[in-house]
Amino acid sequence: MKVLVLSKLDEEGIRLLREKHEVEIALNLSDAELVQKVADADALIVRAKPEVRKPLIEKAPHLKVVGRAGVGVDNIDVAECERRGIKVLNAPMAATNSVAELVFSLMASFARSIPRADKTTKEGLWLKSEFVGFELRGKTLGIVGFGRIGFRLAEIALAFGMKVLAYDVVDIKALADRIGAKVVPLEKIIEESDIISLHVPLLDSTRNLISRSQIAKMKSNALLINTSRGGIVNEKDLHEALRDKKIAGACLDVFEHEPLKESPLFTLDNVILTPHIAASTKEGQKAAGTEIAQKVLEALK
Ligand code: NAD
Repeated sequence: MKVLVLSKLDEEGIRLLREKHEVEIALNLSDAELVQKVADADALIVRAKPEVRKPLIEKAPHLKVVGRAGVGVDNIDVAECERRGIKVLNAPMAATNSVAELVFSLMASFARSIPRADKTTKEGLWLKSEFVGFELRGKTLGIVGFGRIGFRLAEIALAFGMKVLAYDVVDIKALADRIGAKVVPLEKIIEESDIISLHVPLLDSTRNLISRSQIAKMKSNALLINTSRGGIVNEKDLHEALRDKKIAGACLDVFEHEPLKESPLFTLDNVILTPHIAASTKEGQKAAGTEIAQKVLEALK
């Protein structure tokens, strides 16, 4: 069968697929080229791009499976695939540790002003007395969404001597008890955490989960971290709160509109921004490639 790989995939994943099937790698195609290419494809593998929507699916009569080498399937019309009996698969495990480690890196970078300290030192300034940071040990980390990434982040935070509060819409008591995290309602996370990290999917129920009213209840020293999906935090409200120093700061890896080319957030010192890189590690990419290849192979059997 023909597997069409439309995004960069780790070599090991390609090798596994080639053992059983014909594999064509076709990157950066125009819409017209895409439509031509999918005509004889039995499987597609994509990352966050390209979009696999109805007009493309209609041009792929042999399509049996769409594999997403990563977690979010936002770029795939899952309902349309389901209607046509096309399986949509993803690789949810691959990025877990990489994302949790980025959250921790952001937290530590913010605590010690590393981005600004680096920038000003390279400018020949020696602002030693300006950069009095804070320790993470003893601080309260509130985790919203205690799934794969939330849980892994809790393990790391607890090893650093942080207190961990966790909230989820499903029952996480046994999981939290196992590692010594405390399950609390969302309000308590908002009101009592020094650092709040979001690890929920983007759903109707999570869009704008953090907006003006929630931010108003946060501690004045609170740091908000979003590595889950843009849209879960209301960027306009967050910008106002950061500008007015209502909370201490924010670290964002994901945005309402990506790529983020301009934003009022760019002018603020109390925010660290990264370009959706949480899953971008060698280990994460390799795991995503092999995990999705194995699943696609299974589905094509
Ligand atoms: P997961 O499915 O394991 O966990 C998500 C958890 O959120 C689940 O336990 C679910 O019950 C919970 N949840 C759903 N709605 C909720 C709500 N309203 N309030 C509280 N909890 C709620 O997912 P994961 O693998 O841990 O990924 C978490 C998020 O991270 C996803 O949004 C994913 O898209 C994102 N992600 C981002 C990157 C990146 O590059 N920045 C990489 C991987 C994953």
